[in-house]
Amino acid sequence: MEVLRTFEELRQWRARRGGRRIGFVPTMGALHAGHAVLLREMAQDVTVDERVLSIFVNPTQFGPHEDLAKYPRTLDADLALARGEGVTMVWHPEANEMYARGASSFVEESVVSRGLCGEFRPGHFRGVATVVVKLFNQVGATRAWFGLKDVQQFFVLKRVVRDLDVSVELIGVPTVREADGLAMSSRNRYLSPDERARAPELYRRLRLAEAALLDGRGVAEVLDEAKRGLSEAGFRIQYLTLAELPDLSVAKEYLRERSYALAAAVFMGETRLIDNLIVG
Ligand code: AMP
Repeated sequence: MEVLRTFEELRQWRARRGGRRIGFVPTMGALHAGHAVLLREMAQDVTVDERVLSIFVNPTQFGPHEDLAKYPRTLDADLALARGEGVTMVWHPEANEMYARGASSFVEESVVSRGLCGEFRPGHFRGVATVVVKLFNQVGATRAWFGLKDVQQFFVLKRVVRDLDVSVELIGVPTVREADGLAMSSRNRYLSPDERARAPELYRRLRLAEAALLDGRGVAEVLDEAKRGLSEAGFRIQYLTLAELPDLSVAKEYLRERSYALAAAVFMGETRLIDNLIVG
């Protein structure tokens, strides 16, 4: 497994691999078992010849009051995990090389990125879309794996790739959870033991709400009940929404023949958690 840090190293790597098909998993590091599943899916895919992991904590997708400075960095453990999952190259660019001074071009998706997290994290999806397209170009990705835990990110990127004819195929991987249901996240390590003990209630409430929707109960009533339950469990709710796929427009009613994300962002103490279920 090669670990590349400079664009010069990357150019040489690309030159030696002309014509090879490049599998790709972009991350911000602090890898956990959820990331490992993405890498494993890539390892099992016989259509790619190289398996690339990127580790880059992208400053442009963090808001001014978000956790960029304290975002966990665990490079040695990340590299060990990557080696065990069959990664052939790790692209870990220097932060100061990633963006040209005075860079003034961005990738902005304007429909799928509007609601849900987009409403509360202005600029976040522009930062994500821009860096992911840059990373696709840098490594020459032909197929890339993303977690459906970040469901809006996945559908925003799908739209960007379609609209801009980026020749990479995106694969969505179901959310990997702890035994008690909590979606794995690099941010879970911010939770105190007490908060950690309460956090699985988010998934439990999503499951209850999903069952109620499938039972034919009204969307507004189901969401209200779930919100009440979450508040009682100590969460501060940013949003809990039924959003129709693939546009993620807010759904006022649930129709069996359509597909939705039942998606939430909540705070447990200072820690922002997101989770969702794909319904239908
Ligand atoms: P991150 O570096 O954590 O922002 O995410 C890198 C990739 O891993 C993204 O495609 C995420 O959606 C994915 N990912 C993170 N957590 C999970 C999880 N619990 N299950 C599945 N994929 C995940």
